Amino acid sequence: MANILVIAEHDDGQLKLATLAAVAFAKQVAAEAGGSFDILVIGDKVGGTAEPLRNHGAASVLVADHALLKRPVADKYAQVIAEVAKQRGSTMVVGAASTFSKDILPRAAALLDAGMLSDVVDVRREGDDFIFKRVLFAGNAIATVKLEGAVKFLTVRAAAFAHPPKGSEASPVEVVAVAAERLTAFIEYVGREMKVAGRPDSTEARVVVSGGRAIKNPEDFERLIGGLADVLGGAVGSSRALVDSGITPNSLQVGQTGKIVAPDLYIAVGISGAIQHLAGMKDTKVIVAINKDVDAPIFEVADFGLVGDAYQVVPELIGKLKR
Ligand SMILES: Cc1cc2nc3c(=O)[nH]c(=O)nc-3n(C[C@H](O)[C@H](O)[C@H](O)COP(=O)(O)OP(=O)(O)OC[C@H]3O[C@@H](n4cnc5c(N)ncnc54)[C@H](O)[C@@H]3O)c2cc1C
Repeated sequence: MANILVIAEHDDGQLKLATLAAVAFAKQVAAEAGGSFDILVIGDKVGGTAEPLRNHGAASVLVADHALLKRPVADKYAQVIAEVAKQRGSTMVVGAASTFSKDILPRAAALLDAGMLSDVVDVRREGDDFIFKRVLFAGNAIATVKLEGAVKFLTVRAAAFAHPPKGSEASPVEVVAVAAERLTAFIEYVGREMKVAGRPDSTEARVVVSGGRAIKNPEDFERLIGGLADVLGGAVGSSRALVDSGITPNSLQVGQTGKIVAPDLYIAVGISGAIQHLAGMKDTKVIVAINKDVDAPIFEVADFGLVGDAYQVVPELIGKLKR
């Protein structure tokens, strides 16, 4: 019987949609193996964050609420997760593959002496155990693996598990007692620098427009890439070439060493399609490529291609979409 603990991810109380991929994974495993899953929300005054998670079939939505847990500081969160997993006898602890879970879940796994698999894209039952598929080498290889141990920690790729529809029954909310002042604190939260973009985060958005080396300066990036994203209500992203040349900030980079995005629509403007870039966006539902080179590798993965000069076709596209 599976007893799964799903770790909810949020940004200052705002639920990250990728959490629903981890919920979908837990639902699938619980349905196949028998058993149930709980969802754990950690933070400060996060009762409201728990609410939208109540209609997904969890046995309970657990809330670990404490002022000292306001920021997702890895050592404290890992201890809370390990403690809750131990108390509830969890057999699996799962989160969405993200920077948050990369930072926190391996530490929680280590505290329980448990094994961990990241970037899981598929799971199937085999006897009393499970076989997992996970992506390796920037998405160029898929490993089929088993994970030993009584407790398994996993992160799942958001695009691999479709968000579950909401049910009508509401799971109970249960407050988990946290003696947060007793948690060891090796890490001190100093602050966070955020650029107020006014646009959605590319890992959450349904549409992402990304620019590559074709874009010559920050003003053109804002006008062409930002302009196209705005008419589509989307987020912006960029290739590493633009980050390296100082045209876009690091936070916009999509790819192996940047963000992994899986929107409904990804528009790559002046991006050649290097494997390291594809690793960050190839789970997209529909890929559109705009490139002046008809032989650019991006066209091999694109569902729709437009061969042309970005400086000419993007303003035209923005104009037409506005009309
Ligand atoms: C370890 C490692 C990790 C990496 N991680 C990442 C990563 O996370 N993300 C990432 O993106 N890259 C990453 N890279 C870099 C990657 O290999 C490529 O160098 C990079 O993605 C290229 O960016 P680009 O497509 O914008 O530029 P280019 O490869 O130079 O392509 C530019 C494209 O624009 C087209 N073009 C030029 N002018 C126009 C125009 N006016 N109109 C239309 N099209 C035009 C060209 O035909 C060309 O196809 C990594 C590399 C390494 C070694």
